[in-house]
Amino acid sequence: MGVEDPFPGQCLTSNIPFLHQRLTRRVGAGKAAVEPCWRTFRLPDPWLPFLFPGLPPGHGNSHWSYAGKDKAEWASDFPHCGGHMQSPINIETGAALFSPQLEPILLPDYSLPPREKLRLQNNGHTVVLDLPRNLTLTGGGFPQPYQAAQLHLHWGSALKPGSEHTVDGHRYAGEIHVVYYSSHFDTIQEAQVEPGGLAVLAAFLQVGSEENEPYQHILDHLNDVHEEGEETWIPAFDVAMLLPDDLSRYFRYNGSLTTPPCYQTVNWTIFNQTIQLSPDQISLLEDTLHGDEDELIQDNFRLPQSLQGRSVLASFPMLHSPEGAQPPGKGACCWA
Ligand SMILES: [Zn+2]
Repeated sequence: MGVEDPFPGQCLTSNIPFLHQRLTRRVGAGKAAVEPCWRTFRLPDPWLPFLFPGLPPGHGNSHWSYAGKDKAEWASDFPHCGGHMQSPINIETGAALFSPQLEPILLPDYSLPPREKLRLQNNGHTVVLDLPRNLTLTGGGFPQPYQAAQLHLHWGSALKPGSEHTVDGHRYAGEIHVVYYSSHFDTIQEAQVEPGGLAVLAAFLQVGSEENEPYQHILDHLNDVHEEGEETWIPAFDVAMLLPDDLSRYFRYNGSLTTPPCYQTVNWTIFNQTIQLSPDQISLLEDTLHGDEDELIQDNFRLPQSLQGRSVLASFPMLHSPEGAQPPGKGACCWA
């Protein structure tokens, strides 16, 4: 897209690492001459390190996966992944510190017109919806606004849930991450390597009885991007509707990207109220997208990382019952 091919006539010019790898394999099998050229999948270079977090700036051939062995070895290729402020974490509600400075999160003017189109993409690890930077995040105790970059999802499989963060050891069916970067920076590439340069809003997905209409805006198009590297443009909608109604109750801590290169620059906000999707919607998420080696993308979550002395703050005081604190839920029955 908009990047001139320096090697016309050849097909090994994709700037997307996993496509490059796939093409290399096909050349090795002697099939290159009959394969369609993948140059159509070139992306603007500034987006690469973020949309494909396994691609450190200036290194076009790095690769990572969620497979157990690979995950344990992320730090050997991406040193930040072995740092002391990694994400996700298990949130111990009993240890969270109430902070009155944590004001409600504000997401003004998110109702985008359907004539505006947003890019939806399968990056081989998840489904990513690009967001316009004029969607801002304010409040939340942040000294400056953040501007939107993208959102994506994490999920499990029919056998196990797949949220990244856990609460008192409980893992939810899935998790949405809306990624922002500080308005102090012109690009997310600059922001993501600076302390506090990124902010991510996270909410847990649970199985409920009813279909969640806002999520259908994305799920309706999953089949259009079921292969790794595919993208489509979908009508814009109010993406704030993908988050809980209650944006005032949340947990906050300093952590990292949960995928390589694991930069430790993220202000995490994890909402207390969860989001309900129908069983069919959760199943569609778990059983549609394909990634590396054409395998289903499932269990695309990283295991909880050690807190290493970090504090987890809560924007609300908690009432501790004799049975102990309840994990977040739709009703949020047991919080103050
Ligand atoms: Zn994520």
